Amino acid sequence: MLTRREFIRTAALFALAPRILTAREREIWVNDVHSQLNRTRVRELLKPRTRDELAEIVHSASRKGLPISVSGCRHSMGGQQFATDSICIDARSLDRVISFDQESGLIEAEVGIRWPKLIRTYLDAQAGKAKQWGIAQKQTGADTFTLGGSLSSNVHGRGLAMKPLISDVESFTLVNADGKSVRCSRDGNNELFRLAIGGYGLFGLISSVTLRLVPRQKLRRVVEIIRADDLPKRFEERIAEKFLYGDFQFSVDEKSSEFLQRGVFSCYEPIDEHEPVVAKKELSDDDWLDLLRLAYTDRGKAFKRYSDYYLSTNGQTYWSDTNQLSAYLPNYAQKIRDEIGGQESSLIITEVYVPRPDLPNFLAQAAELLRSNRTIVIYGTVRLIEKDDESFLAWAKESYACVIFNLLTLHTPAGIEASARSFRSLIDLAVPRSGSYYLTYHKFAKPEQIMACYPQFKQFLDLKTKYDPSDRFQSDWYRYYRKLLASR
Ligand SMILES: Cc1cc2nc3c(=O)[nH]c(=O)nc-3n(C[C@H](O)[C@H](O)[C@H](O)COP(=O)(O)OP(=O)(O)OC[C@H]3O[C@@H](n4cnc5c(N)ncnc54)[C@H](O)[C@@H]3O)c2cc1C
Repeated sequence: MLTRREFIRTAALFALAPRILTAREREIWVNDVHSQLNRTRVRELLKPRTRDELAEIVHSASRKGLPISVSGCRHSMGGQQFATDSICIDARSLDRVISFDQESGLIEAEVGIRWPKLIRTYLDAQAGKAKQWGIAQKQTGADTFTLGGSLSSNVHGRGLAMKPLISDVESFTLVNADGKSVRCSRDGNNELFRLAIGGYGLFGLISSVTLRLVPRQKLRRVVEIIRADDLPKRFEERIAEKFLYGDFQFSVDEKSSEFLQRGVFSCYEPIDEHEPVVAKKELSDDDWLDLLRLAYTDRGKAFKRYSDYYLSTNGQTYWSDTNQLSAYLPNYAQKIRDEIGGQESSLIITEVYVPRPDLPNFLAQAAELLRSNRTIVIYGTVRLIEKDDESFLAWAKESYACVIFNLLTLHTPAGIEASARSFRSLIDLAVPRSGSYYLTYHKFAKPEQIMACYPQFKQFLDLKTKYDPSDRFQSDWYRYYRKLLASR
């Protein structure tokens, strides 16, 4: 029996002691940033800082017989960066620039570096130099992408005559399933080079990447409002006039006849190196949030405000690399809900590819389809891509027009299925035109759509087994496709 004093002391000790967490509280959950629809439980979340630590994780996982998944900034939306109950690596602490050869324009950086730091580092190193190097392309719409995530999805920007990122990659180093470092380039381990770029982390842990930079240039933005019917011709003319970048941001007002039919066509032409860089008008984060709020509530007004803003920037001048940086609000969905209320929702992106001459016809059919499905498009754009004849799982099988849709998706089974249905219907419009779609944004496509757009997918999975026979590197995206295709 405790005395009163002993009882008080014991009770106080219990109050001070750290509470023992329940099994449920100890669980580690991760999710993608943009759609917030890929919540996944992982066994451990590790943040290695060196290549040796990456190798040690592979050795340790092999001893324990555990799968590894690897994530960057978590912007993929099909579960590519997480595997349920795996050891999940967060690569973002590997973020140093290793070397920069200013003679050749080659820069080697660790895989977790994000674009703003990479750009800042090479600009600092070249301060005051007359001739400078810069990146050729990065994604638009956000900057917080790692080099590893970008390489593993083989991303693209808004170049008018560019291939996907693989064309800018000189080499990379990967820690393979045996924990060994392998350098991959066009001259050495070429098959692995072609597989891992656009290979969604299934062939090993990439530790560093050497990118080939291009000469930095000054550019002038030229903006006009045009109709989708004229788009293929206008793109061709801009390319012939030596414009380097450009896109067409279409009206998302489904109540108007302009829906997907009229848009802001902005292109960038090189200017003399002595001209000043002057871009007085820029959108702040608050301006972006205002535009987004309008796109949720009044899409006619949103398009008007957006096109007025863009037209007012006609003639502004930029640097070719920093012009590709763009604002992104990772908590946009919560902010919008706080302001306008409504059910939990977010945006899912899709990107569909069609031969360029088919663009007007595709957009007209897509408008009809999205209207009849009552799908809300918050934002959409058209860009160009040149054929990728290098990566194994190439999405740019031809020189395509890329059509991007950001769909408002309610977080209910019916809401998610409604978006999935629209995504599948959009792919159905692309397939008969020998088009395709991007694998990074979702895994809603039907098996026959996957086989039509990626006939090499099964061989891709066979080669995954060749390089990683014990299936060390996994993701829920991979497990899904392995099962789906094994059953066929
Ligand atoms: C708002 C927004 C805008 C976008 N705009 C574009 C665009 O303009 N163009 C475009 O092409 N894409 C675009 N995307 C898609 C995006 O570029 C890709 O999803 C990209 O992979 C995200 O990079 P991340 O760092 O977030 O990678 P994550 O999503 O974390 O990972 C992506 C893939 O890379 C793998 N990976 C990550 N690190 C490593 C590593 N060290 N070794 C091996 N594999 C690794 C992961 O396993 C996963 O399979 C956009 C996405 C969003 C949300």
